[in-house]
Parts: sequence; C-alpha cells; structure tokens
Amino acid sequence: MNDCLFCKIIAGEIPSNKIYEDESVYVFADIAPTAPVHWLVIPKEHIAKLSDINDKNSGVVSHIYEVISKLAAEHEEFKNGFRVVSNCGESAGQTVFHIHFHVLAGRDFAWPAG
Ligand code: 5GP
Ligand code: ZN
Repeated sequence: MNDCLFCKIIAGEIPSNKIYEDESVYVFADIAPTAPVHWLVIPKEHIAKLSDINDKNSGVVSHIYEVISKLAAEHEEFKNGFRVVSNCGESAGQTVFHIHFHVLAGRDFAWPAG
C-alpha cells in the first residue's frame, strides 16, 4: 500500500489538482484528460479494485455516487450528460490499483466502449 500512487496523492506526497475532499473521498483531475472534465473519484481507504468491494467496504461506493451526483449538479459541463467508468483489472485497462471512478463530462461519448 505504501507504494500506491493514489494513496500518495491523498496524503499530499504527490501533488494533484483537487476538486473535492471529505472524510472518506478524494476527487482530483486526471493528469491525462480525455474529456473537458476528466476527474478521478477515489476512496481514502486503499481498495485495489472493484472486485475487492464487499459487504464491509461497499458503503464508500454509495457515498462516491452521492458525491458524483452533487458535483454534477454544481458544474455546467454535466448538464447534457456524463459518464462514470471504473476499469477493473488489466484486461479492462486498469493501470492504477487503487479503485477509482473516472468521471467524464463536457462532450458526447460513444457506446459501446472500446
Ligand atoms: P486506469 O487506467 O487505472 O483506469 O486509470 C488511471 C488514471 O490515472 C489514468 O487516466 C491516468 O491518466 C491517471 N493518472 C496516472 N498517474 C496519475 C498522476 O500522477 N496524477 C493524476 N492526477 N492522474 C494520474
Ligand atoms: Zn492506495
């Protein structure tokens, strides 16, 4: 866990562009944005990936969606729609193994995903 990039960002050891923070969640701008809004929403608790969510730690996921909904209501770029993505595992494209939810807004998005 000490080598986790996102734990270091939460601790302030690596700088980030903070959007929002509370007792259990941290939101910051992705370093390589793929949309006008590209934020990463992460729990402060280190959870490696979506498949590690269980009955003990799932509460933070519902809180994350509450935070996303609140931020969406506060930012104009979200008014026509937005996308939330969590890549789980290498085949899905996960590169940082601290669970994170990409929040994308400000343009149209294709479906199905690549
Ligand atoms: P994944 O590929 O695991 O779904 O998403 C990881 C995301 O973290 C990528 O979109 C990548 O651009 C972002 N990322 C990687 N390193 C850093 C960093 O040091 N700072 C920030 N803000 N984002 C990062
Ligand atoms: Zn971590």
